[in-house]
Amino acid sequence: MAVDLAAELVEVVHRLHAQGLAQGTGGNFSVVTPGGALLMTPSGVDKGRLRVEQLVVVDASGRIGGAVGAKPSAETAIHLQIVASRGAGAVLHVHSIWNTLLGLEHAKHGALAITGLEMLKGLAGVTTHEHHERVPILPNSQDMPALAAAVGRMLAAEPACHGFLLAGHGLYTWGKDLSEAQRHVEIFEFLFEVTARQQHGR
Ligand SMILES: [Zn+2]
Repeated sequence: MAVDLAAELVEVVHRLHAQGLAQGTGGNFSVVTPGGALLMTPSGVDKGRLRVEQLVVVDASGRIGGAVGAKPSAETAIHLQIVASRGAGAVLHVHSIWNTLLGLEHAKHGALAITGLEMLKGLAGVTTHEHHERVPILPNSQDMPALAAAVGRMLAAEPACHGFLLAGHGLYTWGKDLSEAQRHVEIFEFLFEVTARQQHGR
């Protein structure tokens, strides 16, 4: 196991949990190892109590190594799809109040548009608040192979997006490494809260 990466991943998960973005067992998180495997949070573990030895290693075909008896997240196929489509070094998936509300509210449009906010510049490659970020929204599903295939089609059709929502479920975002992916989570969650409060005067 890549020890430094594993410790870094656990630290990121604890921080996101402390920020209220991965309550209970919600969310899942992965980082790509130098060998090209995915180091991933296991299924059904309280993210505030996650330990390095609980992480699971998954190869590109979905085969499992690492912790004995550990089960990778049900959403592993989505992580693999994002890594393959975007060349991401880390994929973070969080369940928050604001991303859940906005995903539900805008699902009928298939996307959420955000512009005019300084914090957009926290997204990789964005240099102005006038940037238009289109956040695609897919319907939620428990059929993981079908959902991962839908994610693959969406990512091919939306080459500029930095993340996407599953309606009533949560946000997926990624980065070239863990710190960029973590920054994207924090930026998106800030943008979501501002957008939702602005739309509803709350
Ligand atoms: Zn989830």
